[in-house]
This record gives sequence, structure tokens and C-alpha cells, in this order.
Amino acid sequence: MSDQRTVSLTRRELLSATAAAAVLPPGAHAADFHRLKHGAFDITVVSDGFITLPAEILLPDATPEERQVIMPRLGGDAQGAPVQANIPLIRYGDDLILIDNGSGTNFQASAGKLAANLRTLGIEPEAITKVVFTHAHPDHSGATTTSDGKVLYPNAEYFVSEAEWSFWTDKAFETHMPAALHDFARGAQRDLFAVKDRLTLVKPDQEIVRGMRVVDAPGHTPGHVSLELAGDGNLLVTGDACTHDVIFFEHPHWHSGFDTNPETALKSRKMLLDRAASEKIKMLGYHWSYLGTGSQSARATPIASLKREAGFHHDCCVRTSAEGDRTRPVAQN
Ligand SMILES: [Zn+2]
Repeated sequence: MSDQRTVSLTRRELLSATAAAAVLPPGAHAADFHRLKHGAFDITVVSDGFITLPAEILLPDATPEERQVIMPRLGGDAQGAPVQANIPLIRYGDDLILIDNGSGTNFQASAGKLAANLRTLGIEPEAITKVVFTHAHPDHSGATTTSDGKVLYPNAEYFVSEAEWSFWTDKAFETHMPAALHDFARGAQRDLFAVKDRLTLVKPDQEIVRGMRVVDAPGHTPGHVSLELAGDGNLLVTGDACTHDVIFFEHPHWHSGFDTNPETALKSRKMLLDRAASEKIKMLGYHWSYLGTGSQSARATPIASLKREAGFHHDCCVRTSAEGDRTRPVAQN
């Protein structure tokens, strides 16, 4: 292990790091850092940038009229809208843990900024000790190798669910899977095989480290998992089980166009949202509007019934930002 550095940054360190980011040319990379303490976990939400998704993927169940209203609210137009990629960097004891590693050079050019943003925080790739995949889509595991085939985080142990490994590493995927998934399967095999010698296959309820538990949340992919972190009120890192805050808080019965099994995904999403409401669990969503964090609040209608008042999202984000040491120096480019 070399150059391991704590993420317990002081506010001054954060500000100097973000000042460096602010002089980057527009579009170079997004540099947002939101830090929060949760139980034994010190979490910094680091941006991997953003990806742009078409309306039919984001809103397959919406009417044309609803799309017309919602797409601009997501910052997009009739064709597509940007969604963020929020990656938690978690310090736990001597571990520096990433949940997913982003797109790397294997998806859209507006993403793949995680390693650069970590360096802005003073964290070299060698310092990362664990990478936990929620699933093996290219915007989540695509940074496993560099463009020349080297493992980007060379000292890390890797974790993926047994079900996810089984699904994507099927050697006969071209006959077993619809053609639309073939490129995803090739990408997942590239990423998972690259770290095969340091990969642990996990089952639901298993712990990655003490207090970080694997939660079965299939449907987006067959082996998709979320991570639940123990603390004063637990925190769920949802991955893509609830892909968008604006869309799914308001329309929890809608499907997402990228789900491998949409009905199973819907059940997982309801289960997580229901738990978040009834157990007062905070959530951190990969593609949610930065900061990516949300929680039930006293003023919001409980979403156990999967209903909510307008303002839940906004209210929860204001609340969360007040809990943490938040700096947001530059607009997301
Ligand atoms: Zn995703």
C-alpha cells in the first residue's frame, strides 16, 4: 500500500482542494465533494461526472405530456437529460472503500472523472483498499481498468454479488441474452475478469466490513445489490435500485428503461423506499441530483404508502447538506 491518506480532511483542506478544481477549464471535470459522518463511516461523495440518458430510458411510462414537463426539470430537453454519478468514498478504520468506480474510459466522455477528482482530494488510486460493485453496468464498473488494460485501483480488493457474477460471466451470453445486452456483457466480463484474482463474491446480508451490509435489490440487473451502513439511523447506498430521485419519489410505480427485469426492479425499489420511510433510513443514490443524499423528514408524507408531498426531495437535501461539511465550488459541467 502506498500513499494512503485519510479522507478525514479538514474544511481548509477541502477548500484548498476545491479551489484547485475551480481553475480547471469548463467541462474538464466536475469537482464536487460532500462529506458526511455516518456512524463509524466517514463518507465523501465524489462525482464521477454525469451521463446523458434518453427520455425513453428515463421515463418509459410517462405520457408525452408528462415527459414535456419532467425532462426540463431534469435539466434536459425532449431527447435526453443528464444524470449525475455520485460515488461514495468511505473511510472505515484503515480502509478506503469505493462503492462502484464509475465509467472510466468505457462510457460517455462526460463521466469517468472519479480518479481525477480523488487526486484533487489528494488520494491516489493506490490508496483505495476496497471497491464494492452494486452491479456491473459500464457506468458503475467501467473504470476497473485503464485504457491500456491495467487495473486502475491496483491495491484494492473487489466485491460483487454471486448472482451478478453468474449472470454476466455466462460464456454463452450471446445465445442466452437479448442482443441489447451483449455489449454490456462484454464490458462486465472485461471488468470482472480483470480483477478475478482479487474478487470476492458476496451474498445478501453478508458484511463487507463491520456495519456495511449487502442488501439484495435485484431487477436493475439480476445481481444488483445496495449497501446498508449502520449508524444513527441507517444509510442505504442504493446504487441503481432507485435510479432517479425526482422521477421515482414522485412516481414510485413507474419503470426504468434500463432495468433487466423491470417488475423485479419495481419490487426492489418499493422495498427500499418503504424501508426508508418506515425505518427512517437515509439514502444515497448514484444517479440522484448531487449530493445524491436524501432522508425522510418530519414534514414529508411517509412514503411507506409510496406517496409523497411535493418538496420531499428538496427538503431532504437541504437537511442533509446541513448535517455535513459541504462545499460545492463549481457548477457541474
Ligand atoms: Zn447507473
